[in-house]
Amino acid sequence: MSTYVSLSQTELADVHAKLTELFETLKAQGLKLDLTRGKPAPDQLDLSNALLALPGEGDYRAADGTDTRNYGGLAGLPELRAIFGELLGIPVSNLYAQNNSSLEIMHRLITLAWIHGTVDGERPWGAEESVKFLCPAPGYDRHFAITAEFGIEMIVVPLNPDGPDMAVVKDLVANDPSIKGIWTVPKYANPTGAVYSEEVTRELVSMPTAAPDFRIFWDDAYAVHPLVGDAPSDPDVLGMAAEAGHANRPYVLASTSKITFAGAGVSFFGASTENLAWYGKYTGLTSIGPDKVNQLRHARFFGDAEGVRAHMRKHRDLIAPKFARVLEILEARLGAAKVASWSEPTGGYFISLDVLDGTAKRTIALAKEAGIALTAAGATFPHGKDPHDSNIRLAPTFPSIDELETAMDGVATCVLLASAEKLMSQPE
Ligand code: PMP
Repeated sequence: MSTYVSLSQTELADVHAKLTELFETLKAQGLKLDLTRGKPAPDQLDLSNALLALPGEGDYRAADGTDTRNYGGLAGLPELRAIFGELLGIPVSNLYAQNNSSLEIMHRLITLAWIHGTVDGERPWGAEESVKFLCPAPGYDRHFAITAEFGIEMIVVPLNPDGPDMAVVKDLVANDPSIKGIWTVPKYANPTGAVYSEEVTRELVSMPTAAPDFRIFWDDAYAVHPLVGDAPSDPDVLGMAAEAGHANRPYVLASTSKITFAGAGVSFFGASTENLAWYGKYTGLTSIGPDKVNQLRHARFFGDAEGVRAHMRKHRDLIAPKFARVLEILEARLGAAKVASWSEPTGGYFISLDVLDGTAKRTIALAKEAGIALTAAGATFPHGKDPHDSNIRLAPTFPSIDELETAMDGVATCVLLASAEKLMSQPE
């Protein structure tokens, strides 16, 4: 097969006719498949079923004798913080264990900055004339939804395989004091799988910023989620920031949502002592302590950091074949036509698919017509606006491998059909 761009209009018309036929056959199958959200599949959730019986009747005391059934302990259980502190590269004293959602902590951090200001800000963010955030993109739609809610202006920054384009980032933050933060997913990024290099990390924590209270939302949601081998260890981001004189700059977030139960896990917040005191002061107003019984059950379940790593190898063995199959289908169906490129992640939950400019929306609409739900077009960009209309986020974990094969084959047909339409409408 030739690349689509090398085809004459007559050849394209022929390809288009064949694809239309293929698409009609696809539609006739009456599929109902969903590749939208990165959810663990039931067999992944089953890996943690032992949690349902833990800590067990009569076992409710933490290592220091704390009765986990009672109120208190805002910072969370020390033994669970020690396990995740080791995995996230954060000293136990700088890591809080909270309830099930790290997203909730991110939202709270912005809310608190908005109302009270940060520990080193001149005034509450809500009293600033304008507040802006840098958004490496493609990125995570729920991050962008939080900043959108506050009316924070979002500036798109290109995301490379080793992190954001730092020349762009450094130039922007050095000159604009209204840029207060950056969203990052430093390991196995949602959706591209990018892994931030140590060099990029060091630059982020040490670069001069015009805002005195610039914050890095270091969302390490996929810290221990490899698809190949074991996950690399995390850099000491808090230590690096302190060394550079910016101890309060990083807010580290993580959770067990994709380790144990997505709806009943434990979240973590790592930050400087000053930041934690600030967070604790206000969080103590809304809660007398997190769910420590759940934290105890997680500590019992894992035992130690190696227990988490071993558990994540089981997840890897369940989901890596799904990712491999998606990549095989993409190559087999789209490789020769050269109308798309895609990420080949070594961890995380997503594959980022880039189709011809101006065809992502159409591809997703065609897939919908065929009963295949894909993440909304533009979702990986602030305000849902992909400037090139080219990025599609694929979430391979939840469907069974058979469903995934059918869905991806269908998606490939839709990509090809949308590409052929586009090229026919733009003759050279
Ligand atoms: N951050 C990222 C980058 C994610 O992809 C997700 C889940 N899709 C979350 C955070 C959600 O985390 P939690 O369940 O801890 O709120």
